[in-house]
Amino acid sequence: MKNKYDVLVIGGGPAGAIAAKTAVEKGLSVCLVEKRPAIGAPVRCAEGLGKEALHEFIDPDPKWISAEMTGASIIAPDGFLMKLESQLAGSKVGYILDRKVFDRELVWKAAEAGADVAVKTRASAPIINNGCIQGAKIESCGKVSKIAADIVIAADGVESKFSRWCGIDTTVPVREIMSSVQYVLADIDIDQHSTVFYLGNEIAPEGYLWVFPKGDRTANVGVGISGKKSGEGHRAKDYLDRFVKKTFPHGKPIEYIAGGVSVCRPLECTVADGLIIAGDAARVVDPLTGGGIYNGMYTGRLAAEVAAECIETGDVSRTALMKYDKTWRTSKMGKALVRNYHIKEYLIRQPDAKLNEIIHSVSKLNLRDFTTLSLIKEIIRVNPKLMLELGTLAASIR
Ligand SMILES: Cc1cc2nc3c(=O)[nH]c(=O)nc-3n(C[C@H](O)[C@H](O)[C@H](O)COP(=O)(O)OP(=O)(O)OC[C@H]3O[C@@H](n4cnc5c(N)ncnc54)[C@H](O)[C@@H]3O)c2cc1C
Repeated sequence: MKNKYDVLVIGGGPAGAIAAKTAVEKGLSVCLVEKRPAIGAPVRCAEGLGKEALHEFIDPDPKWISAEMTGASIIAPDGFLMKLESQLAGSKVGYILDRKVFDRELVWKAAEAGADVAVKTRASAPIINNGCIQGAKIESCGKVSKIAADIVIAADGVESKFSRWCGIDTTVPVREIMSSVQYVLADIDIDQHSTVFYLGNEIAPEGYLWVFPKGDRTANVGVGISGKKSGEGHRAKDYLDRFVKKTFPHGKPIEYIAGGVSVCRPLECTVADGLIIAGDAARVVDPLTGGGIYNGMYTGRLAAEVAAECIETGDVSRTALMKYDKTWRTSKMGKALVRNYHIKEYLIRQPDAKLNEIIHSVSKLNLRDFTTLSLIKEIIRVNPKLMLELGTLAASIR
């Protein structure tokens, strides 16, 4: 590792890995630091990703694809099952990844392209000169050093501290943190090619429960509930254990994880002088689905592209880096974040009876295309009152 790079990337998740690879491909010198001893572990993810989303970044490889999904089911609070078969799902259905291998592959590709990578190496403070971030203090196996950089890309995930140390407010309201837990459950009878989502205030208040098959009679079975609904006796794990006991009484948990997912609005500004914030650290997780792999990779790539342009012109000021902030906000992804935030806020206020009504009515439709947007359009179509409740947002969806 050198002590000066064009770009220092903090975090070896999908956002950081794609940022590092893209920056190297743009001709920059890059160092990526990851605080954990191993890239990709422990996995804090249900590992679902749409096919088109993945293909935008990397060709699928059986090495890190656990299972291919051809359909999805949504179970209403009253137990009614709405099935989205593969012919309805079109090309938009997805993969369940093996993120231990996938994340490693992404970082390996960055290293192979020419990025320096250091694991068990934590950025512990920014280097700031005249208000401009110019690198970071690094701690590795008890040794402290400094890495200078023209631009730092903070891709340090949902628990991101780096941006806060740089003076940016990264607070997420408790009610907008999905408290999530998941088992990898083995030896269970499931449809190996269909994801299942369970809704309802009894099963997952202000969230949902998922069963994502991973092949070989195993699945990621998890639940996310609003942080404000969590308390003694009704924590996310209590909901999950109740579900598993009832639905998969003979299932064998072979892995357990817990983590938070932010379902808030993105940070008000995702750049500062010498700093770009990408992925979960920028709070760009889809607030409706909790999915953040694609958004992480998208913002990581864009962060590196803008970094390369700004380094080339010698201007790494906040004003110059704002191109990054503006571009992702006006992108399809940025617009989806706004739309899905409002839809999420609407749905979490609905009693189970209303959720039943919505799911029953949508199930009668012949959906040609299975996307969140098409689903929302149909929900609005069959529930015109929702238009009024969503106000101007509904108009923008149509
Ligand atoms: C239970 C659960 C289920 C989920 N399911 C899905 C799903 O099915 N599909 C989906 O798309 N998304 C899902 N997500 C969200 C998804 O996991 C994240 O959005 C995605 O990992 C974001 O990528 P990232 O690179 O921004 O952050 P991360 O993957 O979190 O990577 C950030 C990295 O930064 C490192 N780091 C942090 N601080 C420092 C530091 N100071 N110095 C050095 N390194 C540091 C961390 O160790 C970490 O490796 C889920 C999340 C959870 C918790």
